[in-house]
Amino acid sequence: MKIGVLSLQGDFDAHASSISRIGGKAIQVRKPSELSALDGIVLPGGESSAMLKLLEPELIAELQSVLLKGMPALATCAGVILLARTVHNPDQASLGVLDIDVQRNGYGRQVDSFIEPSLRITDEGRAALQNAQLMNGRAPEIEAVFIRAPIITRVGSDVDVLAQHDSQPVLLRQGSILAATFHPELARTISPVYMLFSHLVQADDGLIDVDGSLLLR
Ligand code: GLN
Repeated sequence: MKIGVLSLQGDFDAHASSISRIGGKAIQVRKPSELSALDGIVLPGGESSAMLKLLEPELIAELQSVLLKGMPALATCAGVILLARTVHNPDQASLGVLDIDVQRNGYGRQVDSFIEPSLRITDEGRAALQNAQLMNGRAPEIEAVFIRAPIITRVGSDVDVLAQHDSQPVLLRQGSILAATFHPELARTISPVYMLFSHLVQADDGLIDVDGSLLLR
């Protein structure tokens, strides 16, 4: 499992370690050519406005292209902002491939960062965890570290909300894109979010269909 990690700015090293811990090979991505031959891509948290400045137009175009073609992606915090359809507070450009609207710094400033020990998992979330064989009788706890996180203000009809904090959507899935407004790479133990992502990547290999059963192709 070769997973690219967009490594322009932000928490890319911690994501690379987490990818290694789940048995993947993490590859730093800074140029469009580095997006070829990957099984998936991680868009880390950090500062989305800084990332936008560092993202060359060619890399933006290639990222859009591979994501629209269905490359599995894990976007976290600033990564979610980069992919959103519309970004506010302040208004900001974005790749627009994820059908949500976000408000940057929705919970306030750095001092208002917090840890939620166990997110509320929705029925769609339970189904996704079940498919990825992560339920083990009951849903695993998803610890969520929120650092100047965005708030999602609109969710498109093709987007499933997998988990919430205070009734707000914080973990979502649209096709092969998994989006978390928190930092799974900072959880104390390897986050179930990585296992969900790994499941998406394997499903994309044709090994598993969306309902979790094995395919023969
Ligand atoms: N507030 C940051 C932004 O707007 C995101 C913070 C994060 O990724 N932890 O880009």
